[in-house]
Parts: sequence; C-alpha cells; structure tokens
Amino acid sequence: MSDDIPFDRTFELAPGRAEEVVPGVRRLLANNPSPFTYKGTVSYIIGRGRVAIVDPGPDDAAHVAALLDAVRGETVTHIFVTHTHRDHSPAVPRVKAATGATVLAEGPHRAARPLNVGEAPRLEASNDTDFRPDRALADGEVVTGAGWTIEAVTTPGHTANHMAFAFKEANLLFSGDHVMAWSTPVVAPPDGSMSDYMASLDKLARRSEPIYLPGHGGAVRNAPRFVRHYIEHRKGREASILHRLGKGAADIPTLVRAIYIGLDPRLVPAAGRSVLAHLEDLAARGVVATDGPPSIEGVYRLSE
Ligand SMILES: [Zn+2]
Repeated sequence: MSDDIPFDRTFELAPGRAEEVVPGVRRLLANNPSPFTYKGTVSYIIGRGRVAIVDPGPDDAAHVAALLDAVRGETVTHIFVTHTHRDHSPAVPRVKAATGATVLAEGPHRAARPLNVGEAPRLEASNDTDFRPDRALADGEVVTGAGWTIEAVTTPGHTANHMAFAFKEANLLFSGDHVMAWSTPVVAPPDGSMSDYMASLDKLARRSEPIYLPGHGGAVRNAPRFVRHYIEHRKGREASILHRLGKGAADIPTLVRAIYIGLDPRLVPAAGRSVLAHLEDLAARGVVATDGPPSIEGVYRLSE
C-alpha cells in the first residue's frame, strides 16, 4: 500500500555520535529502535556556541549524556519540542536541568477529541503527560537565537500539539513525526486526528522548504513533492476503505485485512487505529455512517 510514496530508508548513524547533517545542524540518534521509531529518535542541535536543541528524545540516560557531551563547551539556550510522545520529550527535564535552556512547544499533551463512552486511551503509555513548555508557541511565531531564526508551524494530526519548526537561515523544516522519509506516521484517535493531519499536510504542501529533518530516519529531500505523495497516499487509503465498504458493511479488523497486505503483525493494532482515524474523518464529512460515535468496535457502512 505504501509503494506509492518514494520512501528513502537510507540512514546510517550510530547511536550516541553527533554528526553534522547540513551546515549548522548536527543530529544525534537515540538507541530506541522499534517499528514506530525506525532506528530510533533523532535529536538535533542548531548552531554553534550558543545552540538550540530540537527534541531531546526519550528519558534515556545514555542518550542524554551523549547529547550533553555533543554540546560540551557550548551553551544551550533553547529546547524545541515537536510533540509529547515518549520518544521525543521525556529527556527535557534532564537537559533543562543541565543547561538552564528555555523549553518551547505548542503546549502540553492533549487528545484531539474527547474520549467516547467506554473508550480507553489505548496509546496513553506512549504519551508524556508531564510535559509543560516554559513558553507556548503560536502558529507563525518566530524565535531568534545566536545565528538562527525558527518559525513555529502548527501541524496537528499525529498529536494535537504537534509543531514543526522552520529554520529560516538553512531553508529547512524540522518536521517531527508529521512527515518522515522512511514511513508515514501513526495517526490514531483519540490523540491523533486524520482531518487535522490532512489539513496539516495541505499546509506544508504550500511551503517551499526543500529539506525536512524528521524525528526518525534521514532527511526528506524534495520535500514539497514528497508531501504531495503523502497526501495522495492517504487519499488512496481512504479510497481503499470506501471500496471495501462498497461491498457491504464492515468492522475495523475486516477493513485492516482488506487494506494492509503483508503488514508486520506488531503494527496491526496501530493499523486499526489508523483506519478508525480515516473513518472518523469520513463520518464527519457524511460519507460513512456507523451507530453512535465512530469507535474501534463499530461497524461501518457507506452513507445512503
Ligand atoms: Zn510521535
């Protein structure tokens, strides 16, 4: 299903060793590989001397030590956080304590919508609900440091508080988990929202940065074109759901089996949440119907 996106999975970076990825930006890999994190979370260091960090990463002592080692002799003035999943933000308290840097993000973790009756926040274990920024950033807000300018770009969808950061001098975007070269991200209700996610993709498609530096894997090249592939991919998945519902009502496990061929079994539950995200969006648009609010147990049909 994902063959339509020109993924680039080349990514050769040993955990714990900082390297310059583009002039003025170093990156450092955390040793937390998984089907959701690829080789692990990538933390970034912007500038030299007086620097900013993007996504300190998981609460992993070795990663925090490597990050602080990479900026030894320098001053960390700012910490930017793309979103509050446990592989991105929990290292913030340790890095802040060691550096005194100001923490900037869209806001604390929150769900994209209220929970339905009886609905458990299934992915709660992946959320960093303790996170609080020192300064909440609004869309378009600009933050300047020593030799760098960052523009905040709200990109809800993967999480409600997801924020990308445009590095103006380098003409690139730190895209977090919103757009990545190796895979599409999980968009899973109630934390994620497909309607928001698609709107955030449309927003990035109107921007001009040619390079994205994501939270996992290598750089996204030719980014505006890549974003358009992402949009087409999601529309293709939506079409697959509608095609299957055209044959009759179906529940989510049936839709997952029909749509995701050869899926890694570890990703089946996430795929179910992703299908639910599409169904929520389709129900909100009046294309698909179900009894009660869209839920993971629901049975779905095309609207009359
Ligand atoms: Zn995430």
